[in-house]
Amino acid sequence: MVHFVGAGPGAPDLITLRGAELVKGTDIVIYAGSLVNPALLGLVKEGCAIYNSAEMTLEQVLDVMKEAQAKGLDLVRLHTGDPCLYGAIREQMDELDKLGIPWDDTPGVSSFCGAAAALGAEYTLPGVSQTVIITRMAGRTPVPERESLEKLASHGSSMAIFLSAGMQEQVQAALLAGGAYTEDTPAAIVYKATWPEEKIVRCTLGNLAAAGDAAGIWKTAIILVGGFLGQGYERSKLYDPAFTTEFRRGTDSPTQGG
Ligand code: SAH
Repeated sequence: MVHFVGAGPGAPDLITLRGAELVKGTDIVIYAGSLVNPALLGLVKEGCAIYNSAEMTLEQVLDVMKEAQAKGLDLVRLHTGDPCLYGAIREQMDELDKLGIPWDDTPGVSSFCGAAAALGAEYTLPGVSQTVIITRMAGRTPVPERESLEKLASHGSSMAIFLSAGMQEQVQAALLAGGAYTEDTPAAIVYKATWPEEKIVRCTLGNLAAAGDAAGIWKTAIILVGGFLGQGYERSKLYDPAFTTEFRRGTDSPTQGG
């Protein structure tokens, strides 16, 4: 059986308990290259075979999976963050289905969550934004034109931009061209969130590329932009003394005191 597992953003104790158990018990691991912390590979049992998928094609990955299944062995396909984002898992799952090889999927902590934790940030601040756009800049891998960074930026929502740290000037220009953010809109670049070598660069959109350049960040980083990184917001309704919920009567309730 093949187990897709989210390794988390980097810190080895940010894999889930289920994910760690699967890694400990498996006969074979195929891990997603440098973005998976090597410390996680230390969890495997003696004799476990380890493959780095950065050096493999989809066909080669599938060959290892087929051979494992034929021998009745368990295989963990360890993806960085959560496998559901930029994990190229669907093409693997579809091939496994065709081959009749069973699989399951264990989620992980995505790096956009690790980056928010590093910054102490909340993407969904009341009065600022209730939406997070997860996207990437088009590069050698295209992005559908209707999802161009410029178009997505026109919402002015919170944005987490993956796979684009090497294109910071284009990212900055596209985000500004969207018309909703300004040069003063707060932004951040988080390099290797939750790894020991994590770097946080807080800046404004107007100096995003210069700040990233000065910090020498050009890969393994997530770019965040939006008012959620700034100072202003409204407090939550949920914890407002006046607000009535299913579990708590607020001071504005007509039956208050009744
Ligand atoms: N499935 C992963 C994303 C894989 S794509 C997830 O859920 O996080 C690889 C991109 O993810 C990198 O280019 C970078 O933009 C981002 N990334 C992965 N790990 C990161 C980390 N620890 N800190 C910052 N960005 C990270």
